[in-house]
Amino acid sequence: MPSFPGHFESRLPRVGTTIFTVMSRLAADCGALNLSQGFPDFNAPPALFDLVAKHMRAGANQYAPMAGALPLREAIAAKVESLYGARYDVEHEITVTAGGTQAIYTAVACCVRPGDEVIVFEPVYDSYVPAIELNGGIPVRAQLRFPDYKPDWARVRSLVTARTRMIMINTPHNPSGSVWGADDLAQLAAIVRGTDIVIASDEVYEHILFDGARHESCARHPELAQRSFVMSSFGKTYHVTGWKVGYVCAPRELMAEFRKAHQFVVFTVNTPVQLALAEWLQDAGRYLELSAFYQAKRDAFRAGLAASRFELLPCAGTYFQLASYAAISDESDTRLAERLTREIGVASIPVSVFYDSPQQNRVLRFCFAKNDDTLARACERLATL
Ligand code: GLN
Repeated sequence: MPSFPGHFESRLPRVGTTIFTVMSRLAADCGALNLSQGFPDFNAPPALFDLVAKHMRAGANQYAPMAGALPLREAIAAKVESLYGARYDVEHEITVTAGGTQAIYTAVACCVRPGDEVIVFEPVYDSYVPAIELNGGIPVRAQLRFPDYKPDWARVRSLVTARTRMIMINTPHNPSGSVWGADDLAQLAAIVRGTDIVIASDEVYEHILFDGARHESCARHPELAQRSFVMSSFGKTYHVTGWKVGYVCAPRELMAEFRKAHQFVVFTVNTPVQLALAEWLQDAGRYLELSAFYQAKRDAFRAGLAASRFELLPCAGTYFQLASYAAISDESDTRLAERLTREIGVASIPVSVFYDSPQQNRVLRFCFAKNDDTLARACERLATL
């Protein structure tokens, strides 16, 4: 193909290919155990697939309503009310999305105008800043403290200006595995009180919290819920990240704007999967038992690395474990992640990629949403370092 004949000025000059694609591809090329991109290497129960097939055979193969299949929106409303006490109107306040990333993008796109400031917390999940910049917004970075990754609320308050349009939050937090408490939401509420700031709350790991911690959803906090897009994902909860189905709950005025954008970004999400998920959600045990399921994996992974030279950071939620390699190597985390993939066959994510100016805290992120055997083999290899 001949090259583009004109001058093409990038809208995202500093963005390359997402680290998740880079590392998963390298892992595949090297035949490495892939603990980089966050997805399970085990399957969901076949009964879930039977439900999808049932709906396909029954003819549910045309467009779902733009906002999402009604039974799924009803099931989401019931779940959110039972867990967080918030009542979202099925007709106007819940929208099914093509995964968490599209929910986040659309929330930004429908709110952020050129020149608006959006506060994010670093390390920041890699889709947030490009979403802001594609819409002409200006990312303003608040640092999470190393090594506990807690916010400094006085600092966050000092970053708010008359141009702050949105604050993007994420608990349980990817990549750090830290979790916000009710006190954090209270601090956030105090900062936005009396402003027009909208909250985009990425809660895709809402069902994966450890050691008895409670998920502090913005939906649980009435003052924040009034100004929040609360976003979640079925991929993480039901071990089907490739299905790309998530959802957003927001008050009616915000959701009306969200849908104006959503209908022209994806219009809607695939029908039989939505109908299957609606049925799957009826059994609350399936999401309520997820924390215990992943806590056992976290503990097995941590135990497997206990004798290694990695220093394990706390992990309060998500299926990611951060490990400091300060005692092992002086290399940058990107170099080390690449070398470990090639040389010992374990792929991870270098955490510096989630910062604007490369932080060299020397930490790698490992995904433990893996079969016990995969985790054991990875630990064995990592322990040789
Ligand atoms: N959220 C996943 C992770 O953090 C990646 C999803 C993706 O690749 N877009 O690993």
